[in-house]
Amino acid sequence: MGLLQPLLQLQRVDTALLQLAHHQASLAERTSLTAAKAALVATQSKHNKLLTELKAVKEEIVALEAANKKCELAIQKYSQQLKTVIAPREAEALQHEIETVRVERSGNDDKELALLENSENLDSQILELSEQIVSQQASVEQATLALKSALTTCEADKQKLDAQRSQVASEIDPKLIKLYDMKRNKRTTPAVADLHGTKCQSCHLDLSVVELSALKKLVKNETSETDGNAVYAECPNCDCYLVI
Ligand SMILES: [Zn+2]
Repeated sequence: MGLLQPLLQLQRVDTALLQLAHHQASLAERTSLTAAKAALVATQSKHNKLLTELKAVKEEIVALEAANKKCELAIQKYSQQLKTVIAPREAEALQHEIETVRVERSGNDDKELALLENSENLDSQILELSEQIVSQQASVEQATLALKSALTTCEADKQKLDAQRSQVASEIDPKLIKLYDMKRNKRTTPAVADLHGTKCQSCHLDLSVVELSALKKLVKNETSETDGNAVYAECPNCDCYLVI
């Protein structure tokens, strides 16, 4: 066993911390919440659009009804006048006026009927969307809770690992930790690894027989040196410290 052995455990904790951070950043619960929120916003926007449309339709209906009231009054007026005129040409003119207003009223009636149908249609769509919004709001709430719970679990795991790291680190020579930190800051792969067979567990490349025997020789010297000028075994491929 070389002097680097204790660092291996520290590296394992750090790797676990890194994996945890990655896991926390890519939680499926976060993706679900984002999707649930987007779906809700889309439905709300559709709902608002239809409400605006319905308001316009209703205003149009009111306007048509007002126009028809005017038509009724006009017809009444012309009918009254018709009773008092004697000249046939005047009567004919009045009848023509009445007919024109009747056509207008009938056109308005047709328009209103179509608008009423449209308004009913909008009403039912709006109701459907309202129900959808309620259920989507529940989904968002549920997804929020799920994410919160997942984050709480992550936080608890992190605290456990942090405590474990302090414990492990407290048992290692600070000079060694400093070396480890320096190496770790320069890379994303593990700074300390052991060998599985002839394979470095940081870069997963095989070491040659020659490289291996040279490192074994170095480790023998490593243990006999004092900390200050010790030379530690490093992987010839990825430069990490190797526990051999
Ligand atoms: Zn390596």
